[in-house]
Amino acid sequence: MVTGELTTEEQQELNDALAELQQELQALLESTESGTAPVKLKDNQGRLSRMDELHNQSILVANRNVAKNRLKSVQQAKSRIEDGSYGYCLDCDEPIAIARLRAYPDAHMCIGCQSASEGTR
Ligand SMILES: [Zn+2]
Repeated sequence: MVTGELTTEEQQELNDALAELQQELQALLESTESGTAPVKLKDNQGRLSRMDELHNQSILVANRNVAKNRLKSVQQAKSRIEDGSYGYCLDCDEPIAIARLRAYPDAHMCIGCQSASEGTR
């Protein structure tokens, strides 16, 4: 396992952080699963509360999509640890700063490339 400029301790730390993040995201997706079922009309329920319910549901669906994408990103980071490309920017091939990896263990780009790609979106 070669992960560039990271020490063995740092690799271990980030590996643990990724595992933890993965568990949290999976738990979040499981706990919100029932909430995305179609909204049912209930007796004694006014129009406004149904609107509220639909609104809450759309927020929940959006959060779930964010969590799903993050989970994918975490899984990709884990496979990059295995193939030894973890910790390097996908764009410029420079090592990603350890401080950035600590904050976002699933980061695939250095801060420079990340902000450049977001700027062009
Ligand atoms: Zn870069």
